[in-house]
Amino acid sequence: AALPAGAAAPAPARHRFGDPAEVGALRGDLLAWYDRCKRDLPWRALAATEPDADRRGYAVWVSEIMLQQTQVATVIDYYNRWMQKWPTLQALAQASLEEVNELWAGLGYYSRGKRLQEAAKKVVSELAGHMPRTAEDLQKLLPGVGRYTAGAIASISYGQATGVVDGNVIRVLCRLRCIGADSSSPVVIDQLWDMANALVDRSRPGDFNQALMELGATVCVPKAPLCGECPVKQHCQARRRKLFGKPIPMPDVEDCGVGDCPLCPPATEPWDSSLGVTNFPRKAAKKQPRVTRTATCVLERRGSCGTPEYLIVQRPSSGLLAGLWEFPSFPLAQDLQEKEEREALADHLQAWMGQPVAAKGLRFIGEVTHIFSHIHQTYVVYSLPLDGDMTLAPASSPSRWVTEKEFHASAVSTAMKKVLE
Ligand code: SF4
Repeated sequence: AALPAGAAAPAPARHRFGDPAEVGALRGDLLAWYDRCKRDLPWRALAATEPDADRRGYAVWVSEIMLQQTQVATVIDYYNRWMQKWPTLQALAQASLEEVNELWAGLGYYSRGKRLQEAAKKVVSELAGHMPRTAEDLQKLLPGVGRYTAGAIASISYGQATGVVDGNVIRVLCRLRCIGADSSSPVVIDQLWDMANALVDRSRPGDFNQALMELGATVCVPKAPLCGECPVKQHCQARRRKLFGKPIPMPDVEDCGVGDCPLCPPATEPWDSSLGVTNFPRKAAKKQPRVTRTATCVLERRGSCGTPEYLIVQRPSSGLLAGLWEFPSFPLAQDLQEKEEREALADHLQAWMGQPVAAKGLRFIGEVTHIFSHIHQTYVVYSLPLDGDMTLAPASSPSRWVTEKEFHASAVSTAMKKVLE
C-alpha cells in the first residue's frame, strides 16, 4: 500500500523494535537506571518542582538552547545566572540584546541567545505569555525551536509522549539496532524519529527522553562505551554482534539483503571487528572547515589613572559573532609574508582611524587559533601603544575604550579573551 505523504517507509525488521515485550522491558530497565544514576542538574530540578506551567516550559527551553553544542558542565553556571537574572519569559522579553550577549559571552554560538530573547518577546506579545503545550505548536510558533527542542520541552515540561532525537540518541539507537548507514542521511534520521516516538514511555516521556540522552552522554559514549555497565545491554544488537562476531539470526526475520538495506552499513565496509560496537553510528566524511587569517590590533593607551585601556569595536549586527565587541580586526589574504601582513594591517588601520600608522610601530605579539563550528580562524595579534590623550573615535562602527576589567564584563567572544591574554 502507498505510504501517506511524508511518512518514512517501515524499517527492515532487524532494525526495529518489533516485540512489545522487549519495548516494555527496555523502558523499564532504562527508567530504573535513570532513577538511580541521573545527574542532579538545575533545569531538572525546575522541571520537576516549578508549579507554573509557563515558567516550567521556559526553564526547560533555556536549558535546551544552551545545551545545543555545549557541554553540560559548562552550561550549569550560565544557566543559573540566566535564570536568576531573567526568571520568567516576561523578564527576558524586556532584556536588551547587549545584556543577553554579555551573559552569553563565552558560551559560543551567540545567535542562540539572541534568538531565544526574540522568541520570548514573541510569546509575551503574541501568545499572552503562554508557552505552547505540544511539540507541534512549539515548533510551529516559536522561532528557533526545531523538532528536537520542541519534543524536549513538550515531553519534559508537559508530559507529552513524544520522542526526541539528538546526537546522543542517534548513537544509542544506531547501536541498539545496528544501523550503520550514514546517520545524517534523511532516511536514517526519519527512521530514528519513528523509533524514538515508538519507544518513548507513555507515562514518563520526559524522564524516558532524558534517560536515553543521559545514557548516550555517560555510558554509550562515542569512543569507549561502557557496555558492561549498560542498563539496556541485553537489548543491544551491536553488543551481540560484537560478542558473537556476526549478525544474530532472528526468528522469522529475513536478513537484510547485503548492499540494498537502507539502514545497514555500506556493503563495502560492513563490519570492522577492531571497532566493535563503535561501528555504529557512521557518518559521511565531514567537510573540512574553512581556514581564515585575521589581523587583530590591540590599541592601548594610558587611562586617566594610569591604568591601561584598550579600544574595542562592535561587530555588525548579523553574521558571525553578531553584535559582539572585539579588538579592531581585518581579514588577511592567505599566504602573505609576515612583513606583508604587517603592512596590510597598517593600511587598514590608517584608513579606519583616518591618521597615519607606521607599520614599524606595530608590535607582533603572536598568533591565536580559534575553531568556530565551520571556520578555523587564526588571529595574528599585534599591539600598538598610543599617546595617553588619544581620543580615537572611528566613525565606521561603535567603539569604546575599556580597562581590562571592563573588557571582561563586555560582550566579547572567547577568541578575543584569548587575544588579550
Ligand atoms: Fe551502547 Fe554498549 Fe549499551 Fe549497546 S550495550 S547501548 S553499545 S553502551
